[in-house]
Amino acid sequence: MKIKVDIDLCQGHSVCLGEAPEVFDVVDVDDGYPRVKVLQANPPEELRAKVERAAKYCPNSVITILED
Ligand code: SF4
Repeated sequence: MKIKVDIDLCQGHSVCLGEAPEVFDVVDVDDGYPRVKVLQANPPEELRAKVERAAKYCPNSVITILED
């Protein structure tokens, strides 16, 4: 799987980090909200359930899981 995020719509809620800390971090930026940082753009299959929860519960729905 491959992860795509719409960084412009991320508001740094950190839900993704809570659900899948192996894959997502949230970092401060100079202007505006903290933003998600994808640590593994192609996470292994064993992290799928966590990544799916992160995508499902992201309040802004900015995480998309693509199949590669
Ligand atoms: S939960 Fe969604 S909006 Fe919040 S930091 Fe993660 S990707 Fe961004």
